[in-house]
Amino acid sequence: MVLGCRSNGIMADLKKRLGGNVEGLFFVDSTCIDCDTCRQIAPSVFAELGDYSVVHHQPVGESEVREAARALLSCPTGSIGTLAKIDLKPARLDFPLPITDSIFYNGFASPDSFGASSYFVRHPEGNWLIDSPKYLPYLRDRFQEMGGIRYIFLSHRDDVCDAARYAEAFSSERIIHRYELSAQPDAEHVIDGYDPVQILKDFLIVPTPGHTRGHLALFFQNKYLFTGDHLWWSRNRNALTASQSVNWYSWPQQIESVRKLLEYPFEWVLPGHGERINLPEPEMKRRLIELLGRIEH
Ligand code: SF4
Repeated sequence: MVLGCRSNGIMADLKKRLGGNVEGLFFVDSTCIDCDTCRQIAPSVFAELGDYSVVHHQPVGESEVREAARALLSCPTGSIGTLAKIDLKPARLDFPLPITDSIFYNGFASPDSFGASSYFVRHPEGNWLIDSPKYLPYLRDRFQEMGGIRYIFLSHRDDVCDAARYAEAFSSERIIHRYELSAQPDAEHVIDGYDPVQILKDFLIVPTPGHTRGHLALFFQNKYLFTGDHLWWSRNRNALTASQSVNWYSWPQQIESVRKLLEYPFEWVLPGHGERINLPEPEMKRRLIELLGRIEH
């Protein structure tokens, strides 16, 4: 029996099992959209092979099985399955996964946002959701236990997913740029123009047009930068990366928006797609300058 029911009820299909999987309990099927979510959550188990992820090492021991189960739950397309029933509850209870004391990765990525990462920021003046995961009663209840959601920051139109449902559940204020408003027409807080906008003491919204016309980045505590699809860390390049191949509006403007970030100190990059990275502030600046050097030529 093939098991591995995701939050969306979709089951991976053994008939579509990719040949690159090593034999064993977990497998990936051909519905994989190569979003990288599983490779980030369980890098010892999942690896990239061509245009897909596959299981390159079957999990051994409780910790690896738990990581693989987290990946299974977070796969946006339900492409990860198991050949025998496993208890997914412990892995589900792990979400939102702590990154720091106040920042969490939500998991449960959506195909609507091509598996984009979303985050939860716990803050004494009200919590923030950074882009949106799938709407799930379980996750909603967890957010409730963590103090609810005051603001929902939407980096751009591609990653809004179920923001409206979370906003309704928590009477949250959704923040989005006017140029992205078609994705969330009834958003409560609309950013106009390209000047930075301070919200409370700890949050600074910096428009970073380029990937889309109204793309926004969010600085938190002058240390954490939520970048949406503006830039990200690439494990293959071992570098900060932005790509013209996924630029939907203006590449020259995106380069200018990367340059704009030089004005700000930060130590973390937390993207929608691609990997997170934490570097000392001078090293992060050096990496940003390095990125600019690559994309300007
Ligand atoms: S999380 Fe799912 S869709 Fe994304 S790369 Fe892994 S198997 Fe593929």
